[in-house]
Amino acid sequence: MKLKEIYSNPNKPVISYEVFPPKEDTDGEKIEALFVELNKLKNYNPSLISVTYGAGGSNQNESVEIIKRIKNNLHITPMPHFTCVSTSEKDIKKYLATLDNLGIENILALRGDIPADGNICHDFRYASELVAYIKKVSSLSIAVAGYPEGHKEAISLKDDVEFLKQKVELGADVIYTQLFFDNSFFFSFVEKCKLTGISVPVIPGILPVTGYKQLEKMAQMCKVKIPAKMTETLQKHSEDKDYIKQYGIEYASKQCEELLSNGVKGLHFYTLNKAYSVSGILSNLNIQEKYNENNI
Ligand code: FAD
Repeated sequence: MKLKEIYSNPNKPVISYEVFPPKEDTDGEKIEALFVELNKLKNYNPSLISVTYGAGGSNQNESVEIIKRIKNNLHITPMPHFTCVSTSEKDIKKYLATLDNLGIENILALRGDIPADGNICHDFRYASELVAYIKKVSSLSIAVAGYPEGHKEAISLKDDVEFLKQKVELGADVIYTQLFFDNSFFFSFVEKCKLTGISVPVIPGILPVTGYKQLEKMAQMCKVKIPAKMTETLQKHSEDKDYIKQYGIEYASKQCEELLSNGVKGLHFYTLNKAYSVSGILSNLNIQEKYNENNI
């Protein structure tokens, strides 16, 4: 099913997950473990599972394997991510043909981070150019990335939203956001998008906190703010993994409740390949019951 159709029901929020191809998985054990987790998460009726793309296509084979299994074994719509920063037009064409052969209908089109070794390919400079290209050569439905607190390289949030608008005008059907921990960033971002003339769904990306060190690293990498209260709580309980996991579930549940009550069209969970926290949040939200068509 294509993105436009997935997000076409205004009364029922769409649940989607992000997973990544496991690293150093020579015997395929980690992929098996990932599908054990995804089978648990299937209980919450996700409409889409997106699969990240390693810098420079480092894990393309594993990504394809995971995409195939999501589609054929789980019977859920997969959405591969794709980055263009280090890839030539020829290789992009080849990858799009692979996706076409697999019957894939959606793609998350990204520029990718500029690699530290500076090894970039100059065929596509920005995600907008990739969006235009995919639109021209394929019938894929295209999603793009948005940044409620601004992309780390952006001169200003205003410029960043203007470039986001360009991606939408060139063919993007949906925007998935960077993680954030303060909903006010998301609400003000959505407002800015609307004022700029962006009318496609903006889907919040939700990361349940599972550890303090990992969170600090991620927040620094993505340039997102951690609320002072959260830092304080996590530092205080840094040795108590169970406490932090439970805190992460409660925090994200409250975040999602507020987002849902403000009418978001979906929730996109950064699962980190584990079911535990996302299951906890979705059980708390009780979406199936609350948004059952008969209850509306
Ligand atoms: P762009 O939209 O091209 O923007 C990059 C920067 O350039 C921004 O600062 C923007 O303001 C600026 N810009 C855009 N257009 C112009 C222009 N015409 N002139 C001047 N400046 C411009 N990375 C991976 O490697 N693999 C993944 O699977 C992956 N998945 C992601 C999923 C989501 C939901 C998100 C939010 C991010 C993901 N990323 C992934 C990270 C992403 O690749 C990086 O954030 C990257 O640095 C920017 O990619 P982009 O597609 O947003 O780039």
